[in-house]
Amino acid sequence: MPTLDQGSVPASEQLFARAKAVTPGGVNSPVRAFNAVGGTPRFMREAKGAWLTDVDDNRYVDLVCSWGPMLLGHAHPEVQAAVQAAVARGTSYGTPTVPEVELAEEIVARTPVEEIRLVSSGTEATMSAIRLARGFTGRDVVIKFAGCYHGHVDALLASAGSGLATFAVPGTPGVPASSTELTLVLPYNDRAAVEAAFAEHGERIACLITEAAPGNMGVVPPGSVDGRGFNGFLAEICRRHGALFISDEVMTGFRATREGAWGLDGKHEGWTPDLMTFGKVMGGGFPAAAFGGRAEVMQTLSPVGPVYQAGTLSGNPVATTAGLATLRLATDEVYAHIASAAETVKAATSEALTRAGVAHVVQAAGTMFSVFFTDTPVTDFATASTTDVAAYAAFFHAMLARGVYLPPSAYEAWFLSSAHDDDAIGAILAALPEAAQAAAEA
Ligand code: PMP
Repeated sequence: MPTLDQGSVPASEQLFARAKAVTPGGVNSPVRAFNAVGGTPRFMREAKGAWLTDVDDNRYVDLVCSWGPMLLGHAHPEVQAAVQAAVARGTSYGTPTVPEVELAEEIVARTPVEEIRLVSSGTEATMSAIRLARGFTGRDVVIKFAGCYHGHVDALLASAGSGLATFAVPGTPGVPASSTELTLVLPYNDRAAVEAAFAEHGERIACLITEAAPGNMGVVPPGSVDGRGFNGFLAEICRRHGALFISDEVMTGFRATREGAWGLDGKHEGWTPDLMTFGKVMGGGFPAAAFGGRAEVMQTLSPVGPVYQAGTLSGNPVATTAGLATLRLATDEVYAHIASAAETVKAATSEALTRAGVAHVVQAAGTMFSVFFTDTPVTDFATASTTDVAAYAAFFHAMLARGVYLPPSAYEAWFLSSAHDDDAIGAILAALPEAAQAAAEA
């Protein structure tokens, strides 16, 4: 395994300087900038299978997988061939096409949704799902959980107000107070807080949106009380109050299991979200996302219903071809391989950190997992925030120097693919002991 000299990534440094001159922070999405871990972001030149190659010719085993989408690894030959053939037929027609119907059918077959509408990003999917829920119910209030990320939708970039059942305040400059004054932000896994919010505002609540298994504060599984899962509890309380339950599976969809995170709970417990959102894996590395749900709700959408929603590139033939090829190739064997690779990486990481005396908690939802540098079990955003970010930064850089590309933030899931073979896993395992030591010394 190549050991990089951290001071020596000249081509990335040069590109970063050029990028910063023309783009805020030098990146087109903030976490890529390494702000949370320090140092120069690596500019990648190429990706194949489980490996990334940067512009200085350093190779890394990829544990980010484009933040989730690359379930089959990079540049999968059959996905590439399907995409090349699609490009050769033209790249956007602005008319209905075959692959968008087939992709919708594939998603409907794998999940409890009856109808879907395709969009181009997870943000668009959640934004549209909330508009639809408001239009369908004729109500305005939205509940979300602290630490759950649903894209950069104004109403969802909200921080909790002064009390549990008080309305939220903007989470960023640029979002007017009027955009978050109809949002309630509650602590994740807190049933009493949900009950209190419904008791106080029940008749005004249009919907509750949650990540199906949160991955954006690190992986925080929905908790179970007396055999009753948190999502089942949410589905039931929403139903009782005439609000819609929106399960955001942008990250978990077709990733946590073949049927997403719903395959871990709802499928067995016998409940179904009113609306679901998808993205990442279903686009196969292209901009494609979706929201879907009960036919009665989806029929409220334009052109059949009054709730407006649209998109020039929605259902784009190249993006939908890539997503369809990915989902068709994502067999039970693919999920079994990723699950087994995840077990190996989780166990080895935990063992290395234990040996080095570094407090940590490994949490998973299906094949998705993350490592918190804390000794507190993580059930919500407050406990996630006990993570030792300095220890993670040291661990991250030691892994990077040994050719392993982890998410450049302590609060992210680690992603594997079917292309993570013995070679790639071996490279991760080889890097762990020294990285754990670096974390211990941070
Ligand atoms: N929902 C969830 C659960 C996500 O993880 C993300 C992105 N990380 C989004 C929505 C937003 O998706 P996009 O970045 O495609 O807008």
